[in-house]
Amino acid sequence: MVPKIPLIDLEAQLAPIRDEILEAITRCVDSRNYILGEEVTRFEDAIATHCGVEHAVGASSGTDALLMSLMALGVGRGDEVVTTAYSFFATAGVVSRLGATPVFVDIDPSTFNIDPARIAEAITGRAKVLVPVHLFGQLAEMQTITDIADQHGLVMVEDAAQAIGAEGAGGFGAIGCFSFYPSKNLSAMGEGGMALTHDEELARALRRLRNHGAETTYLHDVVGGNFRMDAVQAAVLNVKLRYLDDWTRARRQKARRYDELFRESGLVESGRFEIPTPVRDHVYHQYVIRSEQRDAARARLAKEGIASGIYYPVPLPLQPCFSHLGYGPGDFPESERAARETLALPMFPELTEDQQQRIVSTLAR
Ligand SMILES: *Cc1c(COP(=O)(O)O)cnc(C)c1O
Repeated sequence: MVPKIPLIDLEAQLAPIRDEILEAITRCVDSRNYILGEEVTRFEDAIATHCGVEHAVGASSGTDALLMSLMALGVGRGDEVVTTAYSFFATAGVVSRLGATPVFVDIDPSTFNIDPARIAEAITGRAKVLVPVHLFGQLAEMQTITDIADQHGLVMVEDAAQAIGAEGAGGFGAIGCFSFYPSKNLSAMGEGGMALTHDEELARALRRLRNHGAETTYLHDVVGGNFRMDAVQAAVLNVKLRYLDDWTRARRQKARRYDELFRESGLVESGRFEIPTPVRDHVYHQYVIRSEQRDAARARLAKEGIASGIYYPVPLPLQPCFSHLGYGPGDFPESERAARETLALPMFPELTEDQQQRIVSTLAR
């Protein structure tokens, strides 16, 4: 039987660094310091340096990093947060959890990112924060988006969960957030996230919020939460960060190879598949193609033991939990079309030439 091809191969990632990881975990176990502490500080400093941002605050997940960022900016009841209609749920979920209202903007079909031309019309007097997402690892159009935010007096929080390593990612907004969920480009062995900021006061607020709003033990200035990062996760991430640049380079190479294979196969010319060309820096968290016959293609891949993914099958405004916001089918045509047509193919730094050929030739058949 032909070997299966996974969407992401964590076994291939682990094999060459297994000893280093186990050593780091052992050191952490023996230190008996399991939450925050030296490993977390070291990781925060390393990420801040890597991304060229002054302050980095480790968190319990990417979701919690986003949540505490909005909390630090005082988002609450009556506020609106403008964001993309097409992202992972957390981008909008954190807004609702604070009693604020997510206001959605359709995407630019060529990048899957928020369409800058549609942002202004979504901004009302209640809008407080703008949350662009660098979907699939490609930067949103930050120059234009930053200008729009400035013009309307909105603060920007970047959801950079899928884009660590992209040029400037995490440093465009007042706060930028990363996720270290196991499937992300830089991944923990459990949950982890981070909020970055150039602003010292915001950094201080974030540190306080992640620790139940206390700067001094048992003295709570504000109501925060337990959004702290585990030391073991930071220890793992400190090892993996050394490989991130190599992994990003490899992801870009695999993407270029996919592009070539698709062109050679005639699939793009035939109009049956569309291979979106990146227009801004891209770290290929996902390699996403689109097709009107997406579901048939996906079934065929599955039959050949090739995994694929749909990110995301339902646009955010059409999620059942947001039905009270009153959006309906047809309100976000490009997000809805993306939800019907996108297909994420296996993408990881260790992907082989054989695997890529098999994937594209299966689709060609
Ligand atoms: C993964 C992800 C998150 C949430 O991160 P977690 O660490 O899973 O909580 C938020 N936004 C986007 C776009 C993501 O991809």
